[in-house]
Amino acid sequence: MSAVIPAIVAPSATEPLVTGTIERRDVGPSDVRIDIRWAGICHSDIHTVQGDWGPQPFPLTVGHEIVGTVAEIGSDVTRFAVGDRVGVGCLVNSCGECANCLAGEQQYCLNGAIGTYAAEDVDGTITQGGYSTSVVVTERFVLRVPEAIPFEKAAPLLCAGITTYSPLRHWNADHGTRVAVIGLGGLGHMAVKIAHAMGAEVTVLSRSLVKKDDALELGADHYFATEDPQTLRDLRGSFDLIINSVSASIDVDAYLKLLALDGTLVNVGAPSEPMPVRAGTLIGGRRSFAGSNIGGIAETQEMLDFCAEHGIAPEVEITTADQVNEAWARVLASDVRYRFVIDIDTLTA
Ligand code: NAP
Ligand code: ZN
Repeated sequence: MSAVIPAIVAPSATEPLVTGTIERRDVGPSDVRIDIRWAGICHSDIHTVQGDWGPQPFPLTVGHEIVGTVAEIGSDVTRFAVGDRVGVGCLVNSCGECANCLAGEQQYCLNGAIGTYAAEDVDGTITQGGYSTSVVVTERFVLRVPEAIPFEKAAPLLCAGITTYSPLRHWNADHGTRVAVIGLGGLGHMAVKIAHAMGAEVTVLSRSLVKKDDALELGADHYFATEDPQTLRDLRGSFDLIINSVSASIDVDAYLKLLALDGTLVNVGAPSEPMPVRAGTLIGGRRSFAGSNIGGIAETQEMLDFCAEHGIAPEVEITTADQVNEAWARVLASDVRYRFVIDIDTLTA
């Protein structure tokens, strides 16, 4: 038996989102049922529904920035109790046995991690995401949300937070590291906050000057508008690490030239179009062009605890279930400051 619950549903790649219902499985021995309280809107939700990454199994409910409270636990669950504040990010399962899973890097599961939505679950059903009132998840993929993080701000940490924390840690952003962040959206603004908390010297590269005051308040030390062609000339060789969080294809080769010797540009933005890179640009400064996908489950918990310890929380705009199409339009226009979070209490079937 399963439960039918209210959800925001994408009927197809071209129609607006509508309120409807989805099914959730009953709680198995290792499962936790979470009553969802807040759900973040990630640009990946929009890429997915719009077909930027290929055809999708419609009707589909997206959302992989989920926080809520534990409503029910299975008989074998040991780490959570009813009432706990918890979160779920982009993954709900993985094989648990491959080298990458054993290394705690479930996001790189060699047998294919199971995404929170649009993925085939172990029972053959299609996973449905967090724009809904509850979710059932195996306890290994449930995170603890520290009390110090305001609940309505916590959800974006489960994707935007970990996706920026993980490369900043992996490439050792630290005191004195010169970090640049391209694009000041949901991911970009978290990259600024987290890199600043790690002690890095942070530069924001946004298209215009519109977000300058915000960026400096978020913790950036410097800010440049990339619509000014002089910016890319002046900043050549300036950074040890660049995080590209742009949702569209940009001239990444031009940005690689901003790296100092041995610097790395990490792409977390996931446009569908290719981004050409000249060998000479990499060779010229022993530069690296890299990518990074969210983070592992243990690292996600580490990030949540880091944010609690450093008083870091996303800047959010709260939206209601009936305003989600408008919120998506504003994300597409780069007009969100800096992450929309859906108040799931406004969602009724
Ligand atoms: P977002 O809030 O829409 O932010 C993207 C930012 O990119 C915008 O704020 C804008 O910054 C800049 N931008 C947008 N269109 C642009 C264009 N045509 N040219 C130049 N700059 C442009 O999106 P998000 O939720 O942060 O997600 C960003 C990207 O990361 C998406 O592609 C998403 O799918 C991907 N993502 C990847 C992972 C991963 O694991 N790797 C995880 C989550 C999301 P300015 O206004 O400052 O210029
Ligand atoms: Zn996301």
